[in-house]
Amino acid sequence: MRDVELYKAILGLTPPWTVVDVTLDVRGQQVTVQVRAGDGPFPCPECATVVPGYGRKPRRWRHLDTCQFTTWIEAERKIVFDKFHIAKHLHDAVDQVRKAEHRTLQRAHDDRLTGTKYLWLMRAPMP
Ligand SMILES: [Zn+2]
Repeated sequence: MRDVELYKAILGLTPPWTVVDVTLDVRGQQVTVQVRAGDGPFPCPECATVVPGYGRKPRRWRHLDTCQFTTWIEAERKIVFDKFHIAKHLHDAVDQVRKAEHRTLQRAHDDRLTGTKYLWLMRAPMP
């Protein structure tokens, strides 16, 4: 089994993610695993809509050591352009929390959240 195949199995990556390279630095006692997801397009993990991206940003994460070697995972994170799409998901999440709290309060005959839906949505944080 090659090193790339070994780390692909160890990390449990699923498509489109895959290991493309493994670098061993014996002197520095480090292993660096390069992970890529291909060119896309990539669907939104929340709703499966394909959202446009405008770039990639390299990232590096520390992984559990491989024996005595410090292990690093390097990948490029896609930068999403469509902030309105992300804001919609944030608004949906805020609205679900509001609805749950409203139902809980109503069971105790407390109507303080009645008519506040748009106040909550207007004040949701933007990404
Ligand atoms: Zn989405």
